This record gives sequence, C-alpha cells and structure tokens, in this order.
Amino acid sequence: MTNPETPKESVAPTRAHKEYDFFKVVQDYLDRAAKTIKLEPYVQTILSQPKNELIINFPVKMDNGEVRLFKGYRVQHNNLLGPFKGGMRFHPSVTLDDVKALAAMMTWKCALMRIPYGGGKGGIKFDPTAVSKAELQRITRRFTHALGENIGPDYDIPAPDVGTSGQTMAWMMDTYANMVGSGNKQSVKGVVTGKPVASGGTLGRAKATGQGMVFCIVEWAKANNFNLEGSTMSVQGFGNVGSNCAVILSRLGVSTIAVGDHTGYLLNPEGFNAHKLQEHVAKHGSIKGYPGGKPITREEFFSTKADIFAPSALENQIGEAEAKALDVKIIVEGANGPTNPAGEKILLDRGVVILPDVLANSGGVTVSYYEWVQNKRSESWTEEEVDDKLERAMVRAYREVADFARTHKVDLRVAAYAIALQRIESVYREREIFP
Ligand code: NAD
Repeated sequence: MTNPETPKESVAPTRAHKEYDFFKVVQDYLDRAAKTIKLEPYVQTILSQPKNELIINFPVKMDNGEVRLFKGYRVQHNNLLGPFKGGMRFHPSVTLDDVKALAAMMTWKCALMRIPYGGGKGGIKFDPTAVSKAELQRITRRFTHALGENIGPDYDIPAPDVGTSGQTMAWMMDTYANMVGSGNKQSVKGVVTGKPVASGGTLGRAKATGQGMVFCIVEWAKANNFNLEGSTMSVQGFGNVGSNCAVILSRLGVSTIAVGDHTGYLLNPEGFNAHKLQEHVAKHGSIKGYPGGKPITREEFFSTKADIFAPSALENQIGEAEAKALDVKIIVEGANGPTNPAGEKILLDRGVVILPDVLANSGGVTVSYYEWVQNKRSESWTEEEVDDKLERAMVRAYREVADFARTHKVDLRVAAYAIALQRIESVYREREIFP
C-alpha cells in the first residue's frame, strides 16, 4: 500500500519543522498584543483556544482498488463576529496544531479587515500531487460529506489554501448542495468561496491575495518615498499567492529575480517573465524545468539581494539563518506565519520592514467575502468593482496598522493583532458571556 503522506517528487530542502510549535507562536503574539491594549483577561482566555476542533478519519477507494484512510481536520476558532471562515489545506505536513494556529489567524484577519466572519481552517494530511484527479475528487467529496453540517453558508465557509484550488471548491460546493437536498440552490453556493466564476465564484478572487499584497506594498512605497518602478523582488512559493503577486507587481515595473518552490530555486538577474512562469507552473505543477533561470540552492536564494521578498509558501521558512542572510528592504508575508519569532527579531533589529501576514495576505478572505455577498444577493460584480473595493479595504487596513504601530511603538504584526483584538473585545463587552 502506498503511503498517502509520501510526496511524489523529492522536495526542495526546507527548514526542519520538528519542534516548531506554530500554535504557540500565535498564542505568544496574542499575549504581546493583549498586553499592549490591556485586553480584558477573560477575552484573552476565550481566544487562547479554538471553539471546536474536528478530526475525521475517512476511507477512500483509490484507482487501484485499495482503500486508504485519510485524516482530515477542521478547526473553528471563533465565530463572535460571524460564521467561521478559512481555507482548506491539502499537504503532507498538515497537523492539528498548525491548523489551530491558522484558524486563530483567520479570526484576527477578519476582525482587522472588518469582515463579518470569525476564523476557521482545515485540511487533509496527504500530498495532492501524488494522487490522480479522480482520486482527488473522491477524497475531497468524501471529506466534505464527512464534515456534514459542520460547514454551511451561514456557519463555516471553507476556501482554497495550499494544495487546493477553485476546482476543489467546486467539488465541495457540489457535494454540499447534494447533501442538503432540494432547498435553495442559490444560497448553498455560499458554503465555500474561491469557486470558479462559472460555479458562482467572483471575478478577481483567483488573484485577490496577491493583489492585496500589491495594494499594501504600493501604500508602503508611497508612505516611504520608495520607487517601485525598476525595483527587484524574490518570491518563495509560486502558487496562487506568490505568482499573482509577482505578475501584478511586474506591471508596476518590479522584476522578479529569484523564485523557489517545493522542487527548488531559480535565479535570473535580468528578471523572470512572471506571467510565463505562472503559465509554466499551471501546466507542469512547479517551476521545475522552466527555461531561463539558473538553479541555485536554498541558501543562495535567501542571500540574493533584492528590494522586496514575498514569502508565499509555508510557515516557518525564515529563521535565524535566513533572517541574517536576507538582503532586502521589505518582506511582504503572502504565506501565513513564514517568519518565525527568532528570524523576525533579527530582521526588525536590522530595520527590515515586515508587512505581516494578517494584513498583507488578507486580500484573499476579503474578496471571498465579496463572493459570498454576491451569492447571497444573486449578483455578479465586475472585476473593477471587486478590485476597487479591495483597494479601499487594504489601504484603510494598512494605514490603521501603520498608525497604531507608530502611536504605540510596536511592530506592525503586534499592531495588526491589537486592532483586531480591540474589535473583538468591544463585541464581547456588549454581548457578555452566555448564560
Ligand atoms: P499553492 O498551493 O497555490 O502554492 C503553494 C506554493 O508553495 C507552491 O509553489 C509550492 O511549490 C510551494 N511550496 C510548498 N512547499 C514548499 C517548500 N517546502 N519549500 C518551498 N516552497 C514550497 O498555495 P497558496 O494558496 O498560494 O498558499 C501559499 C501561502 O499563502 C500559504 O501559507 C497560505 O496559507 C497563504 N494564503 C493563501 C491564500 C489564498 O487565497 N490562497 C490567502 C491567504 C494566505
């Protein structure tokens, strides 16, 4: 029997994940932000753990007739501000603690962006590139079925994350629609976001996270008299988030000179054609084999001089060694949790700006919310409408976070957490604790 956790291709060298407690890292940031704003202790107590943690072991028949057992997770962190909301990750490294960390970050992100959602996250521990498309569909549908009424358009709304896509969301929505019977077929579309446009998705969602990162960078550049035209960038992870960020920034004259993904790292001092590289990844599943780039090691990638670094792969990628090696002005966290606390300290001491994940990559959930609103109202907005709304939301959030950091003399991450916590606390104060 094949082990579903064994990746098909050999993976690029990565940081050792053992002993890295992502959930503890998020709890420590919660502590720091709570102290900054003197958060009511009972609010911190509630937010220190998720509301619900689901683990589902479910069987799937593979193409060769074997039955494999898969482990799926859904963590529902908080739903004070609205339904639980957050992505579904299909990756061999998915653990309950990581999903808890990611779910908590969704709570802060939605509060920061003033979106009426709480936070959730889920996933399945397996390598989606090592199964056939038919198997992937059966795994997705069986997991959705097993989740049953633990998800729903007004209860918990999944979206794409690492290893999942619009296609995954279309299968999830279809499975859910078939489960709930002949009720309102329009409103059940809102059970997931990030759907393909024809299946009820919104224009602008596929690129939304990268687009949101770009709106943040532009705002930072304006505030700091930095000329983006002619500047350089390196990107780790060239999937949905990293590739869209690179493509959109290339239109503003930023050239991507170093890229990396799970198959390795490439350098091109002249600048990659981000659009062509994105097409290559769509066709071949990775940057491997892309002509026009020189293979480099992970160490060489992290010491490549550039103006902007966009970590857009996984958490815990920038530790002490990477932080010392990085020769950049600004890091825009497309990934969730890419910088670990030790790396962050070194970078901040060195004066490198970090646009933190809960702010920088919140364009994804923001446009997911626009998709959900359109599903509820049976509307289809133009891409310009979506982009305009997103730009206003990102610029406002960036300014609030930057102002808070300046006024309270804290870094941008603690500022983003603190603003989110203040909003959540004000609602707990009004509603109080049941009973
Ligand atoms: P994706 O699956 O489209 O892309 C993931 C990328 O990471 C791929 O290029 C993959 O090769 C690379 N990668 C995986 N393992 C790696 C390793 N060990 N070393 C180097 N690269 C590796 O996923 P995505 O949706 O682009 O998500 C990327 C990050 O952005 C995640 O942290 C996710 O939580 C975060 N994020 C995603 C969204 C969204 O809308 N998709 C929104 C907010 C945040």
